[in-house]
Amino acid sequence: MRIGRTLPPAAAPIYVRDIISGLRGLIRGKREVERFRSELRDYFGVKYCFLVSSGKAALTLILQVLKHMHPGRDQVLIPAYTCYSVPSAAVKAGLKVALCDVNPKTLDFDYNQLASRLTERTLCIIANHLFGYVSDLDKIMAVAKTRKLCVIEDAAQAMGGQHRGRKVGTIGDIGFFSLGRGKNISAIDGGIILTNDSIMAESLQSKVTMLPHCNPMDTTILILKALLINAFLKPSLYWFPQGLPFLRLGLTVFSIDFEVKSMSGFQAGLAKNWRQKLEEFNKLRENNANFYMAHTDTDRIGRIESHQDTRSVYLRLPIIPQNGSTRDLCLNGTGNSLGISPMYPGSIDSISQIEDQLQGDTYPGARRIAQNLLTLPTHSLLTRADMNRILDFLNNP
Ligand SMILES: *Cc1c(COP(=O)(O)O)cnc(C)c1O
Repeated sequence: MRIGRTLPPAAAPIYVRDIISGLRGLIRGKREVERFRSELRDYFGVKYCFLVSSGKAALTLILQVLKHMHPGRDQVLIPAYTCYSVPSAAVKAGLKVALCDVNPKTLDFDYNQLASRLTERTLCIIANHLFGYVSDLDKIMAVAKTRKLCVIEDAAQAMGGQHRGRKVGTIGDIGFFSLGRGKNISAIDGGIILTNDSIMAESLQSKVTMLPHCNPMDTTILILKALLINAFLKPSLYWFPQGLPFLRLGLTVFSIDFEVKSMSGFQAGLAKNWRQKLEEFNKLRENNANFYMAHTDTDRIGRIESHQDTRSVYLRLPIIPQNGSTRDLCLNGTGNSLGISPMYPGSIDSISQIEDQLQGDTYPGARRIAQNLLTLPTHSLLTRADMNRILDFLNNP
């Protein structure tokens, strides 16, 4: 175990006052969840909002509802490079995964092939906004419209982002956010569904009402996790949890073994100060990302382009170094303690559990990203000195 200042790759701090309002929320129960729901509806300007146990749970419910509405359509079209929770939720909902390649310059769909990936069996398209880089929703919606398909916005990493002046998560037919660790803001775990579609909302309402609640054991674990994150999510102490292999920090796995539950009063209470935290954390992330971008050579570090007229929230700053060996260097001890980190272990087509659903096509863009992408930390715990050390390391590895 390496002891010393260690930066987490992503962070959304939980303060003591958040834990206190979490405990109050625990007592208020359903009233606290309703408060959070109505604040979210107001802020995002949507008619319907549903709160559940996690982002994957949110996506699973959305997909179950769509599946029921369109029997005979069983394929979910997703980017070939994204979070493993996305195919996990599709399989959990009893659906199959289909992939569209990703453009390494934008991390968005490869629009030369998006339309050709649709078939009679396509149920919906999931757009993601990876690292808070907003995808080209105009193009995705236009392609979806040709076949009257639903667009789900996976805004798990982009809460607070904007697309042509509109809030990300509210532009597709339905959208969701995650309140997991390392997202824009966190309630340890949590999922938010937003939509204006009354038909989907009606089905979701009846599903969410039937969901199991957190039992006392779940709640105790959430409280303990909140206390641990509060204590150890600091650069001076993060070496400790990072060095404990059983915590599996930052590990991404494909698994359908997760629970779909309602959100607890404790989680809604933890998120009480969400609006201020969201705006403050995103602003800091944006400033930090801009600082890196102003002090690095775009070509050499392989910066990702954002689409015109979008506001990215830079959950992390993704880069694709042109020189492969830079990446290897960044994965050694120093890079690691600076919070420089790869993201997912492979493209979606490399997940063995779903190999049989894919027609053996290759996704060179997604593969290239999986092999070369690194992310720089942008969170609120970074100091200017940390960022200078990161820049030094990148510029003279
Ligand atoms: C984190 C994440 C999810 C899943 O959210 P959880 O709350 O972790 O279940 C889905 N999609 C993307 C892009 C994510 O980053």
